Amino acid sequence: LKVIDHIEQVREWVRAHKTLNHRIGFVPTMGALHEGHLSLVRRSTAENDVAVVSIFVNPLQFGVNEDLQKYPRPLEKDIRMLSQCGVDLCFHPQASELLGEDLQTFVDMQGLPEHLCGLKRPGHFRGVCTIVAKLFNIVSPDRAYFGRKDLQQLFIIQKMVRDLNFSVEIVPCPIVREADGLAVSSRILYLSPDERKDATILSKVIKQAAEAPWAELTASELIAQLRKSVTAVASARIDYIQIVDESLEDVKLVKNGDILALAVYIGSTRLIDNYVFGQKLNF
Ligand code: AMP
Repeated sequence: LKVIDHIEQVREWVRAHKTLNHRIGFVPTMGALHEGHLSLVRRSTAENDVAVVSIFVNPLQFGVNEDLQKYPRPLEKDIRMLSQCGVDLCFHPQASELLGEDLQTFVDMQGLPEHLCGLKRPGHFRGVCTIVAKLFNIVSPDRAYFGRKDLQQLFIIQKMVRDLNFSVEIVPCPIVREADGLAVSSRILYLSPDERKDATILSKVIKQAAEAPWAELTASELIAQLRKSVTAVASARIDYIQIVDESLEDVKLVKNGDILALAVYIGSTRLIDNYVFGQKLNF
């Protein structure tokens, strides 16, 4: 595993592999790696000639009152994990180099970001898209892997790639969960033992929704039932629970392929999860 901080050195590495006709797989992350990230990484190493992972806690995607400062950064442990997975290059840029002193160009999508997390975290997806676009331009991957856990982000990146003609195939990857159903996330590290138990409410309501006679209910009836379950957990506070279609518009009646999207605070930690109606659950 090679660890590179500087953009120009990554470009050189990429040029050398392109000359050899190597296909480059890429997984962008913010580090604090866990099984969710590693599932993307393993797929990338299996499907490509060389695998690149970036670790960058992107300041542009954090709001003023969010957890940028306290976001975990266990770099040495991350590098060990990537090395064990057979990753070829870890790109770990400094914010000063990647953002520069005077960034004036942003990828500001209209439409998909005006729903769900985008409404709750103004500027978040602008920050995500801008950095992912920069990373794509530096790494020039053939394939890039994104988790379905951040489903709105996945849809937005797919749309950005179509709209701006990036030459990369976006590969969606399934949500990795703990045994009790909780979607693995770097933010789980913030939870106290009691909060960790309460956090299972997210996967519990996903199960509740999947097992409900949803085809016979209106979306608002089903959402009311789910809200009731979440509200019964003292440490939980609903940010949103919505049922949307693929364009992220709220639906009135639920059909196969519609998405239950939820964001719930457990104490001060905000967790997200989602379920695509009709899919089998594996927990
Ligand atoms: P992050 O480091 O949070 O920016 O995540 C990097 C990538 O890992 C994103 O594409 C996420 O969707 C993906 N990811 C994070 N957690 C999971 C999970 N539990 N299952 C699948 N993918 C995940």
